[in-house]
Amino acid sequence: MGKFLLGLAKFLLGNYFSKGIIIGNHIQDRYQVTLEVETLGQYFEFIHHDALTGRMAMAGKRPFCLFTFDDGKKINVLEAVPVLEKLGVPAVFYLVTDSVTSNLPLWFDRRNAIVKDLGMIPEELKPERLKKMPLAQIHAQLDQFAEKYSVCPDTNDPCVGAMSWDEARMLQKKGFTIGAHTRNHPILTNESLEEAKGEIGGSIASVTREMGHDCVSFAFPNGSYTNDLARFAASCGVKTVMTTDPIWVGASAEPWHLPRIDIYNHYDPQKILIKVAAALPGCLLKNPNGTGRAYVKVRWFHGDR
Ligand SMILES: [Zn+2]
Repeated sequence: MGKFLLGLAKFLLGNYFSKGIIIGNHIQDRYQVTLEVETLGQYFEFIHHDALTGRMAMAGKRPFCLFTFDDGKKINVLEAVPVLEKLGVPAVFYLVTDSVTSNLPLWFDRRNAIVKDLGMIPEELKPERLKKMPLAQIHAQLDQFAEKYSVCPDTNDPCVGAMSWDEARMLQKKGFTIGAHTRNHPILTNESLEEAKGEIGGSIASVTREMGHDCVSFAFPNGSYTNDLARFAASCGVKTVMTTDPIWVGASAEPWHLPRIDIYNHYDPQKILIKVAAALPGCLLKNPNGTGRAYVKVRWFHGDR
């Protein structure tokens, strides 16, 4: 079955030139980034963010692939960037701007440190439970465990600590794109409208200020968005807004809510190709944000496939 799926995936990927994909990464190391580039490079042309809307309008000889990395962790600078530079692959790095400024851990880093220390997952810290809460409530929950067990995450770990603004500016100088990913990484659909808009607008303004030119892209934490929030992000001046709707980007896709296919650290080449091919029909994969296939109805309603 695996062989059949892989064969089908290779056929589809080799015969579909009018579309492209945006890949969502997080804390991939050198080896994993190399593996992704080698695997996807057989079928796709890697493009820069600046070329994205042009390629959406006009097909190339091969389908395009835009690499993105969420959360702005230091490991991106240490591991992904040297490989991407060597292989000539552009990418966008989405920063959680308050964590870049303060180097304070994000809520899921705090949660992961507690779970690791306990060696088990308490009911209160199950991801599906926490991901239904506003950020203040998540932190209050984590505070209780952190105090009780005296646990705090190690921000010297490059998978936990954020890159600095100087490092972000260095990436920009090398030709990479720096985007915004909120100020504190809340799940925006759990926040009040005012709070959510402050997180979006504040992070876009910080990237613009620190990078010295307009922030061009915003990515939703956890891929959780509403059309109103996505349109608000676009109204803050960015050219593209990224979700995690797991489908390809077609000619009719709209820059204010672009889909992305998440690739995780443990994926081997076969799994990468099968997932990317399974994203092509636009209705098979579940959204990692927990909303299942709700994106299918929304996008088909908008004629946005
Ligand atoms: Zn994120």
